[in-house]
Formats: sequence, structure tokens, C-alpha cells
Amino acid sequence: MNKIILALDEPLDYKILKDISSQVAGIKIGWPLILEQGLEGIKNILKNFDNNIIFDLKLADIDSTMIKITTHLKNLGDSFIVHAFVGYNESIRELKEFLDKENKKMYLVSSMSHKGWNDNFYPYIKEVIKMTNPYGLVAPATRPKILKTVKKDFPEKIIISPGIGAQGAKIGDALCNGANYEIIGRSIYNSKDPIGTILEFQKIQEERLNECKRAETR
Ligand code: C5P
Repeated sequence: MNKIILALDEPLDYKILKDISSQVAGIKIGWPLILEQGLEGIKNILKNFDNNIIFDLKLADIDSTMIKITTHLKNLGDSFIVHAFVGYNESIRELKEFLDKENKKMYLVSSMSHKGWNDNFYPYIKEVIKMTNPYGLVAPATRPKILKTVKKDFPEKIIISPGIGAQGAKIGDALCNGANYEIIGRSIYNSKDPIGTILEFQKIQEERLNECKRAETR
């Protein structure tokens, strides 16, 4: 089972990364690693990964600024995570057109994983998602209710889900609640044996998914 997207917010040894690349479904790179390593460092890290490289810059700006930012990174990765709350016209619409032209994917944040996020805004975010028709969505493992709602509202979208381990959700929870992939960071890169941890997590994911499927058919 290959349903882990590694959130690499801190560097890992190149040799370990090379071994990890074949074990995970993708890698998510955000500001912490970009600012620490610079673009040249990021290029070196990404040499180990041949696909599903997701840039998580939580873009939330006007169209031309987001297009400028993604232009700098488009040759390094496959997808960009964008905040839905900025709205459609003169923002996400134009970015989506640009990314489509460049053959890049967009994920919209449907809900965040931390306690301070307010899901009362979800009806608005849902409208932006509908208008945009992104490739995928980010929805939290930490709040099963909203994750299930997002899955119900957008059953055909790829859902990637953070919040597992360090933020409290259990491995496999998000898969059971409708996510396609679990985004995991600290529990892997801070572990003494990142590859062993990934293999262990994959086993747990498989067991949990089987359990959930069995429970559904009961
Ligand atoms: O270390 P941890 O497993 O908590 O990492 C989760 C990753 O997912 C971090 O890179 C974080 O920025 C990101 N993320 C999140 N919650 C969201 C969207 C992204 O934790 N709603």
C-alpha cells in the first residue's frame, strides 16, 4: 500500500531520501524547506523523486502574484496547494487556467487541520471549489466530520489529508474517512528510522482500511 505523502519540512539525509522515494506516493515541499535549502537545495532533494511533487505554499493572493510564484517553481514539481478562501475571480480562476496550460495540478484547501480553523466558512469554500474544479483537495485527518463532508461533496476529487501523528490523528484514520492519501511529516522525518517508520505506517494503514471496509459491510 502506497498511500503516504511525505511532508518534508526538514531535510533528511540524501541516501535515506533516495530509499524513501520508492516507498511513498509523493512528497510535499513547503516554505520551511525552501527557505532552509534554497532553490538549488530543493532541486538536489527532488532529484530523488520522479513524480507527485507537491508544492505547499498555501498560495492566497491575486492572480498575477500567484502566477509569478508558480512560474518560478513549475519546472520542479507537479502540483500546487492553493487556499480557496481568496475567491475565484481575478485570483484562483486565472491561476487555474495558467496551471492547466502548464499541465500542473491544483489542490485547494477545503479545511485546515489545526484547532483555530473555523469550518463555518465551508459553504463559501465549497462554492469556490465547485467553480474551480481543481484536481484535488486538502482536508484534515484531525476532524473526521469535515473530512467526510468534503468526501461526500466531492467524491471524485483526490483528497490528501494532513494531521496524522504529530497533530493527533491516528495512522489510517483519514483513509477510513475518505482521504486518498495521508500527508505525514514529523512522525517520519523526526523518527530514528524513517524508512522503517514508513513501512510500519503502511502496514497499519492497510489493517485500518480493511477494518473500516469490514465495518461498512456489517
Ligand atoms: O508534521 P506533520 O505531519 O504535522 O505535517 C503536516 C504537514 O501538512 C505540514 O507540512 C503542514 O504545513 C501541512 N498541512 C497541515 N494542515 C493543513 C494543510 C497542510 O498540517 N490543513
